[in-house]
Amino acid sequence: QILNRVLDLKGNIRVFCRVRPLLSNERNARVGHLTTTPGTDTIKVVSCRKDFQFDKVFLPSSVQDDIFLEVEPIIRSALDGHNVCIFAYGQTGTGKTFTMEGNKDQPGVVPRTLQRLFEEACFDNTVSYAFSLSMLEVYKGRLRDLLVCHSSTHLSIQMASDGCIDVDNLTEMPILDAKEAGNLYQQGSQSRSTSCTNANETSSRSHCLLRITITCTYVLENHKFATTSKLWLVDLGGSERLSKTNAGGITLEEGKAINVSLSALGDVISALQRKQPHVPYRNSKLTQLLRDSLGAQSKTLMLVHVSPKVKDIRETVYSLSFASRAR
Ligand code: ADP
Ligand code: MG
Repeated sequence: QILNRVLDLKGNIRVFCRVRPLLSNERNARVGHLTTTPGTDTIKVVSCRKDFQFDKVFLPSSVQDDIFLEVEPIIRSALDGHNVCIFAYGQTGTGKTFTMEGNKDQPGVVPRTLQRLFEEACFDNTVSYAFSLSMLEVYKGRLRDLLVCHSSTHLSIQMASDGCIDVDNLTEMPILDAKEAGNLYQQGSQSRSTSCTNANETSSRSHCLLRITITCTYVLENHKFATTSKLWLVDLGGSERLSKTNAGGITLEEGKAINVSLSALGDVISALQRKQPHVPYRNSKLTQLLRDSLGAQSKTLMLVHVSPKVKDIRETVYSLSFASRAR
């Protein structure tokens, strides 16, 4: 039994890296400082002679299909009753939102997951599934409901005696098909906090969390059973350090809040990986919120995004180092 637990724990946290391609307006950018050895999932930063090992590396040529193929098994775990967190981490502009949300022609992890859940619900007739969706933002250490316009309701995190976390007053919408759910996500995504100075920019100063609650009912020997699990899909705030974030128009306060919560998340994942007796969940709202979904019974997938440009090397090394702490 102990051996089983150890084996199980080993696979509970997985870390992937995606290097985004150069965009059409970046053709003249200097590249080439990142190399990979075929057949391995290691990224080498040539100039600092450092190797970073991942569970999977996605090169710039990778497409959304490639990513989802590797994400799918963890979605299956959520249907099997595990709490699951999937995070997109990285410097602003490295493709976190592209991976999670994607666009009309290249849908990302969120729309594909929604579709997958409903397919599974139709396919498996020994159990019946019900899904509901909530969406919130962690902005400057505060929670905000993204499914209510101009929400001023105070959301608070509650922990039940069995360790289950819930958020008081958070909107929870039952969802009946993938399209409806996708529309809700779009709507929520548009309510994210943007800066006062630049209302057009998509947000990088907050963490955006989609929560799908899965209720599974089945009958066994004439008794009805039900399990509930949570699947979190998280587009994290930009990981860039303060000097850089200022240049992007993020205020000092916003940048600090993001840095604090990202390092709290790194600390929690690292403590879990190293099976430390104390896991420091209390250091940020983000980790308090995800407390029951980050742990021995849960599955975590960290998708670390990096830029291919030499110009971004410092942030790239920083992100790769964050990732290696999580592994
Ligand atoms: P982030 O959310 O990390 O700030 P975005 O997802 O907004 O970054 O990506 C920045 C830009 O790069 C967007 O225009 C996006 O469409 C593009 N992009 C990112 N990743 C890819 C990719 N793998 N393939 C094609 N375009 C990408
Ligand atoms: Mg984004």
